[in-house]
Amino acid sequence: MIENLIDAIAKELDGDLSDVNDLNKLQEKKAKYLGKKGPLTQAMADMKNQTPEGKKTLGMRINECKVYMEKKFEEKKRQIEEKQLEAKLKKEKIDVTLPGLKLQEGSIHPLYQTIMDLEDLYISMGYTIAEGPEIETDENCFEKLNLPKGHPARDMQDTFYINPELLLRSQTSPVQVRTMIEEKGKPFKIVCPGKVYRRDQDDATHSHQFMQFEGLVLGPNITLADLKGALLEMARCMFDKDRNIRLRPSFFPFTEPSVEVDVSCGICGGKGCPTCKGSGWIEVLGAGMVNNNVLRMSGYNPDEIQGFAFGIGVERITMLKYKIDDIRNFYLNDVRFLSQFKEVK
Ligand SMILES: [Zn+2]
Repeated sequence: MIENLIDAIAKELDGDLSDVNDLNKLQEKKAKYLGKKGPLTQAMADMKNQTPEGKKTLGMRINECKVYMEKKFEEKKRQIEEKQLEAKLKKEKIDVTLPGLKLQEGSIHPLYQTIMDLEDLYISMGYTIAEGPEIETDENCFEKLNLPKGHPARDMQDTFYINPELLLRSQTSPVQVRTMIEEKGKPFKIVCPGKVYRRDQDDATHSHQFMQFEGLVLGPNITLADLKGALLEMARCMFDKDRNIRLRPSFFPFTEPSVEVDVSCGICGGKGCPTCKGSGWIEVLGAGMVNNNVLRMSGYNPDEIQGFAFGIGVERITMLKYKIDDIRNFYLNDVRFLSQFKEVK
């Protein structure tokens, strides 16, 4: 009798577990079948009514049934856990065929683009690129460029001084001085791109920090015609092939003669328009033949070696080229402004 009952319990358990699919429910069932009030406990209570032989058989059967049920619960638990893991993995699966997030592509800064264009041009004409520190000595930045202390032309450049001998360079010309000292009287052709600093109030046309691109050519028999050629090439490369340049007399302490260089207006073709203020020309840079004093101070003999120098304002050229009307745009890092220069690579 009691043995049949135990078989029936095992059978009932099988049916009862078939629709259990979470661990909490399984725990409830386990308490129902194997707990203190479970059917096996009740079967145990029947022991006292058995013969010694019967007790032994019944005890064995109860034990088998218990082992059977525990095994069933263990199996079911493993099944549920596997199913849960499977479901979790399915949920977290990465679909590699989905389109990716679009990353914002960066662009080349227009000032850097101008510098690269100028470098390419002058390298193609045999120049090398020279660079120097932004913190300079007063000697390299002024004295060796024919601007002794107290010289009135120093007022042309309002300089950030760190102490009486050190300053933030107000022009890239000290790189020319450094190269001349290094080359010890030998000819060379260099261009020097870099940042310079002046105590200007920032406005649409002034910035306390801006970029210069200077050139220096030293050698025997260098004339103003060579300078004109080097700058005409620049104007045609940076703007367009139809441009012309003209030189106007000017003054810089480090060059003699000194010239202002104008480029013919690209909008009116030289006829005169509001952009060029009716003149047909746009002022772009200063240049000249290297002053003999400058040559001598850095170890060159002006009777054997002459040269020319020019200084291009990178912002000025870039503003003219891309029709930008406020110099501050270059330094605000506004993506709306910068992203317009994507096509230039
Ligand atoms: Zn014009």
